[in-house]
Amino acid sequence: MSQDYRKVFILDQDIKHANRLSKLLTQQGCQQVVRFDSGVKVLSAIAQGDSPDLLVTELVTSDIDVFTLLHDLSSSSFEGQVLLVSGQDERVLGTANEVAVSLGCPVLGSLRKPLIVNELQWILREHKKPLAIKTSRSMDSLSCYDLKRGLRSGALLPYYQPKWDTARRRIIGFEALARWRGESGLIQSPATFIPTAEKHGFIDEFTHRFLRVVLADVQRLQAVDPKQTMAINFSIDTLENRELPDVLEKMAQILGIALDTIVVEVTESRLSHERINLLEVLARLHLKGFKLSIDDFGTGYSSLYRVKDIPFSELKIDQSFVQGALADSSARAVIRSSLQLAEDLGMSVIAEGVEAKENQVLIEEMGCSLMQGFLFAKPQAFESVQEMLVAQVADEATKQQRLSIL
Ligand code: C2E
Ligand code: MG
Ligand code: MG
Repeated sequence: MSQDYRKVFILDQDIKHANRLSKLLTQQGCQQVVRFDSGVKVLSAIAQGDSPDLLVTELVTSDIDVFTLLHDLSSSSFEGQVLLVSGQDERVLGTANEVAVSLGCPVLGSLRKPLIVNELQWILREHKKPLAIKTSRSMDSLSCYDLKRGLRSGALLPYYQPKWDTARRRIIGFEALARWRGESGLIQSPATFIPTAEKHGFIDEFTHRFLRVVLADVQRLQAVDPKQTMAINFSIDTLENRELPDVLEKMAQILGIALDTIVVEVTESRLSHERINLLEVLARLHLKGFKLSIDDFGTGYSSLYRVKDIPFSELKIDQSFVQGALADSSARAVIRSSLQLAEDLGMSVIAEGVEAKENQVLIEEMGCSLMQGFLFAKPQAFESVQEMLVAQVADEATKQQRLSIL
C-alpha cells in the first residue's frame, strides 16, 4: 500500500487496539490516521466534509452499531472504503459485510482481532479496489428500447473464459459470458443488460440468439479438441420454460455436439423448490445427458437442501470465498465443506475468481485443482481462446511425440 489511502479513520473504543492499528497503517504508507471512539462523531465529521479514503471500524461502538453506521454512511457523501474489524464471531462480520455490500458501501474486507499484520497487509495490497460496489453506482443499465434494437442488430456477443486444471496444467473447457457491444463499440458486462432482458420478457429471445452463436463456436473449438466443454449461464426464467431441454438438444444435435460437453450453469441463490417447472427442466436436461453446474455456490441460504435433490455434476465455489480464503477462516470453512459435500455427492468442484497465485496455492492445498480466474485468463473474444486452444493442442502433440521417441 499505498498513497491510495491518504486519510484513514479508525473507529474503535479499544484504545490499545486502535493504537496498534494506527501504527500499522502508518507503516503501510497511510499519510493521516484519525482515531474516533464514537460512530456519531465519524458521521458528523463526514457530514462536515471531512471524509476518509478508508474507514476501519469495529462492529460495536460506544453509541451506534455497525449496521446503523453503514446505513447512515450509504446515504452520506462518504465515498471511501470500509474495513470491518471485530473480536466477535466471524459470522457477525460476514453479515455486516453482506449488509454493507447490499447498501452499496465499498467493502475492502473484514479482519478478526487480534490483528495479524500479514492479513492486514494482504487485504490492503489485494483489495485496493473495493470487493463490491452497488451496481447502480457503477454502471447504467441498457433501456428496454436499446436492448430490443441491439438484440436484432448483433450487439449481443459471447466472451469465453477458460477453465483450468492446474494439476494437468491445461484448459479443460470454457464458460460463455454474455457481452453487449454498444454503438460506440464499448463492451458492456451482463449486469447492464441481463436484468433488463429478464424484466421485460426478452430473456428467451436473448438466450436463443446467444445459444446459436455459442454452439457454433463450440463446434469450432471441438474441431480443435473434441473433449472441451462449454458452460453456459441460464436465467431461472429460461429454465422454467419446459421446451428448453428439447430445443437445446436439437440445436446441439444439428451441429454434432455431444450433449455431455455442454454444462448448464444455474446460480444457486435463485434455485427454489417452489419453482416446479425449474426442477423438471433441470431433471430432463440431466436425463438427456447435459451436465448441470451450480454456480456461485455458498451464496444462497439452503445450499445443502437444494443440492441433494438436483442432479448437479459440478459445483462452482463463489469467488467471494475464493478471494477471501487467505484472510478469512469462515471463507476457508465454506470451501472445505463445499469440497466435502461435492465428494460425498460425486460432483466435481471448480473455484471461481482466482486472481492471485497465493489463492491458487491455497485452493490446491485444500484439494481443488479446477479453477477459473483472471490469474489464468480473463473472459475474451472467440478468436483468442481458439488460439489458446490451438497452442495447447500443438504443445501436447509435441510432448507426446517426444515421449514416443524416448
Ligand atoms: P458467473 O457465471 O458467476 O461468471 C463469473 C463472473 O466472474 C464473470 O463476470 C467473470 O468475468 C468474472 N470473473 C472470472 N474470473 C474472475 C476473477 O478472477 N476476478 C474477478 N473479479 N472476476 C472474475 P461477468 O462476465 O461480468 O458475469 C457476471 C454474471 O452475469 C455471471 O456470473 C452470470 O451469472 C451472469 N451472466 C453472464 N453471462 C450470462 C448469460 O449469457 N446468461 C445469463 N442468464 N447470465 C449470464
Ligand atoms: Mg457462471
Ligand atoms: Mg459464479
